[in-house]
Amino acid sequence: MSGEKYVYDFSEGHKDLKELLGGKGANLAEMTRLGLPVPAGFTVTTEACRAYLATGSAPDELAGQIDSHLAALESTMGRHLGDPSDPLLVSVRSGAAFSMPGMMETVLNVGLNDASVAGLAAQAGGDERFAWDSYRRLVQMFGKTVCDVPGDDFSDALEEAKKTRGATNDLQLDAADLRALTERYKHIFAKHTGHEFPQEPQLQLRLAMEAVFRSWNAERAVLYRRQERIPADLGTAVNVVAMVFGNLGPDSGTGVAFTRDPATGAQGIYGDYLQNAQGEDVVAGIRNTVGLEELKELDHRSYDQLIEIMALLEGHYRDLCDIEFTIERGKLWMLQTRVGKRTAAAAFRIAAQLVTEGAIDLDEALLRVNGAQLAQLMFPRFDLAGEPAVLTSGIGASPGAAVGKVVFSAARATELAAAGEDVILVRRETNPEDLAGMIAAKGILTARGGKTSHAAVVARGMGRTCVCGADAVEISRDRFTVAGRTVAEGDVISIDGTSGRVYLGPVPVRPSEVVQYFEGEPVDSTLVEAVHTLMDHADERRRLAVRTNADTGADAARARRFGAEGIGLCRTEHMFLGDRKELVERLILAGADGDRKAALEALLPLQRADFVELFRAMDGRPVTVRLIDPPLHEFLPSLEELAVTVAVARERGEDHAEEAQLLDAVRRMHEQNPMLGLRGVRLGLVIPGLFAMQVRAIAQAAAQLAGEGLDPQPEIMVPLVGAVQELEMVRQECEHIVEEVISGTGVRVLIGTMIEVPRAALTAGQIAEAADFFSFGTNDLTQMGWGFSRDDVEGAFFWRYLELGIFGISPFESIDREGVGRLIRIATDEGRAVKPDLKIGVCGEHGGDPESVHFFHDVGLDYVSCSPFRVPVARLEAGRAAITRS
Ligand code: ADP
Ligand code: MG
Ligand code: MG
Repeated sequence: MSGEKYVYDFSEGHKDLKELLGGKGANLAEMTRLGLPVPAGFTVTTEACRAYLATGSAPDELAGQIDSHLAALESTMGRHLGDPSDPLLVSVRSGAAFSMPGMMETVLNVGLNDASVAGLAAQAGGDERFAWDSYRRLVQMFGKTVCDVPGDDFSDALEEAKKTRGATNDLQLDAADLRALTERYKHIFAKHTGHEFPQEPQLQLRLAMEAVFRSWNAERAVLYRRQERIPADLGTAVNVVAMVFGNLGPDSGTGVAFTRDPATGAQGIYGDYLQNAQGEDVVAGIRNTVGLEELKELDHRSYDQLIEIMALLEGHYRDLCDIEFTIERGKLWMLQTRVGKRTAAAAFRIAAQLVTEGAIDLDEALLRVNGAQLAQLMFPRFDLAGEPAVLTSGIGASPGAAVGKVVFSAARATELAAAGEDVILVRRETNPEDLAGMIAAKGILTARGGKTSHAAVVARGMGRTCVCGADAVEISRDRFTVAGRTVAEGDVISIDGTSGRVYLGPVPVRPSEVVQYFEGEPVDSTLVEAVHTLMDHADERRRLAVRTNADTGADAARARRFGAEGIGLCRTEHMFLGDRKELVERLILAGADGDRKAALEALLPLQRADFVELFRAMDGRPVTVRLIDPPLHEFLPSLEELAVTVAVARERGEDHAEEAQLLDAVRRMHEQNPMLGLRGVRLGLVIPGLFAMQVRAIAQAAAQLAGEGLDPQPEIMVPLVGAVQELEMVRQECEHIVEEVISGTGVRVLIGTMIEVPRAALTAGQIAEAADFFSFGTNDLTQMGWGFSRDDVEGAFFWRYLELGIFGISPFESIDREGVGRLIRIATDEGRAVKPDLKIGVCGEHGGDPESVHFFHDVGLDYVSCSPFRVPVARLEAGRAAITRS
């Protein structure tokens, strides 16, 4: 027999044993240790659950350990479980380390049966009504949660009993009614299960506990864990707690409370109380609850004690706590507490308040908020002041507030969007064929699927607002119905990708006050003050610099207001679009050297003007300019279109020499796998003068600004290098031009490379010899590391990979630490071994992802770079990373 301890008395545990005792059990133990009025009880560990789930039966030692803890509980309480004349009753409560909807809830009043119900009445001074009320609740909860009897059958029977009585609520049923109802419930139970309601108290206890274990693998719980990325093998604990009764009359009741407002973070207690009620009645809405202030009138003593305990718990946990309590005939009992969930805004406010109150320091406060919450606060929000009608709700899968006309097909979405309409694409679920419609829509609403469904993954990938899994929505061809309402194509709805709520009609959208604050506008709000305090501290603590990815002066200026300390990636290819396309065509089609030179010469001043604007906006800060990266044929018209034009012109006998020449070029340059073809540094080596023109434009822009007394800090970045030889050749050419243009201006130009081809990461030691800096292009590094073409895989099958658990989150959303991350580590270590002061950063989208920022901090990079909007998120997370790892 192994010495494994599977059962802990409440007096044996404490709050840091969550993994073993579950959140509920650990905190019940903590409250017991603090001397608070907690009913006696014990916790069966998550380890027992894991053993049960692995083998299908409880470990051998468990029964004996439960027996002895039950015996101890009986002796503490001076009663025996289910004793016919004076019964001890218990509740059986699930409680995992993370709270998890979909798992088995609680069974109250375990130990009641046809005999002990009389004993319970006697205990309560002859209150038969109370005893039968408790018994019928047991049959109902046990039936529903342990034996899967449909809950509606019980509530229908209750409604019927009320109707027969002419009663409007359950309190008007008397002892005889409840006794009859209990009989009715037992019939329902027997009908559905094929056996009688178990009368043996020990058996009730065992069955209830095993049901809790099994509920770990209930469908909804599994789904929830997958969505929230909670490991599947933790198991749940079971708490067995001596019953106290809130249904013993008007001087009893049950309630929930918060030590601060979890919605806004405002100071002051919040809560609801329901007189003469048990357990879930408060939240089930069977009768109207009253606010805590009214408890003060009803039971001053219990109220004062509750306030005192709440203050004590807040002081102890140094955070917002939520609480479940019951009052039994004027005596207060604490049944649960935990550090309470809260909205993003409340998280920032509360963290800052606690600092002001001296409860926590700034480091701790910074750890209490996170980048995802900050990002949430930066989206525009619906103004709910007009109390818009909530149509239904689903899972908030991609944040934002979108308003538009309902459409039911991708084709219709593209059509209306092209006509300038805002549309919301509504689908049962989406698939790759919906992609064009998803791009055209302002928002996406689906009836099926969770946070990892196709709709969710794709919407997040392109920053589109999405609510998915709104399962009350029934879609037919050109309309949907939900809760009896019909919404036709063209009707306007509003969807909230954070809360998952769907509103009928247009809801006004308000800009984010946090963004207004970052923009430098004066905003007077406690939220903005809190954000300000915590951002300041993050900036003080962080070691990673934060730059932005920006291609225009306007983006650069905005990012700077958001706190960017430079540009980590300026893509030069947009500079080849618009009215410059013609020049690029000329460049590509150039037959003779002379033609090409002329085209490049025409492009030079245009590029220079772009860089002047950019360096000016980022004066005094580094600006990394990536030389042209995409394959040139991306700048040419599509093969199909051109072929049609030429064919038509030929048919009509019109002049088509130019088009035909272009078509030839397009055919010539067509690639099977453009992502792996002629692009990046390869272009620079194949097309003479292309990189030279760009480098000259950069150097001239810098020289011009230096002449104006500014401080431009250009960094020239060569994309797609896989071998040091490539970089060496480009470098030589660049140095030459730079030297010629900037000598005497005092400008210093760095020349470095992206690390985005796995071979570059693996030969980083060699490449470092020719580079002043490295910048990880984590998008391409992920594509090439996994062999994924992002555009092809995200829409086509990523949902399946997520469903299969091959990865918990898309490697394009959050850096794959073990694979791609290892390439980053190797390159960093080997690069620095050769050149200790090698500047190293990240310029892929991962630079703005909270989890990834922590990884980049750990690896020891110098900076991350991300889109302007993610800059504050990266700053905050870089600060948090510095604290966590110090
Ligand atoms: P959940 O995890 O869904 O909150 P709980 O285990 O907390 O479920 O139980 C729900 C409610 O049942 C509690 O808030 C409390 O009101 C009631 N309850 C649980 N155990 C007891 C008990 N021993 N005595 C009285 N009420 C109880
Ligand atoms: Mg609870
Ligand atoms: Mg790239």
